Amino acid sequence: MNIVIFGPPGAGKGTQSGFIVKKFKLFQLSTGEILRNEIKNKTNLGNEIASIISSGNLVSDEIVAKLIEKYISDQKFKNRIIFDGYPRNLSQAKNLDNLLNKYDQKIDIVLNLSVSLETIKKRISERQILENRSDDNAEIAVKRYETYKTNINPVMDFYKRSNLLRVVNGEVSISEINNEISALIEAI
Ligand code: AMP
Repeated sequence: MNIVIFGPPGAGKGTQSGFIVKKFKLFQLSTGEILRNEIKNKTNLGNEIASIISSGNLVSDEIVAKLIEKYISDQKFKNRIIFDGYPRNLSQAKNLDNLLNKYDQKIDIVLNLSVSLETIKKRISERQILENRSDDNAEIAVKRYETYKTNINPVMDFYKRSNLLRVVNGEVSISEINNEISALIEAI
């Protein structure tokens, strides 16, 4: 099965994806993580995108599409991917459908982790102390939240139409969220 998980920055996508990966033996494809690794390793791509990421904007659709095709086309991951942080806009959602189609796969469920801006600010200020991400200060957090909000509604409508979208309350405890997500996946 392939899963898409999305939610605003700080919603707990990464944490929840980690649980799902273990429980359902999937592979976590986090575009944010892949992009951050490019920056850490100082690749050409990394140098090109560093300032975009630290300003809270989105990297171009073309760049991210190329990165994810590498994984979708790999037999090792066939029908075992959880997409964490992709798609971020309608054109990426359509691209994901096309790519999966090309490699004879599909999305089985889309999880929308729903969290308020207040909670996000609080979580990000806590995370800053632990992880020191360049895009994790309060001001950039708000910018990233706005970027998310601007782009995500058409993505939600897209998945609502195909009846794949499930909304998960991201305000409760990590284990409660985890239980809700597990039940949704088990019901597929
Ligand atoms: P994340 O860890 O998912 O919050 O992603 C961190 C940053 O990486 C985002 O703020 C974007 O700048 C970039 N990024 C991650 N995923 C995407 C995507 N699907 N499309 C464009 N940019 C992305």
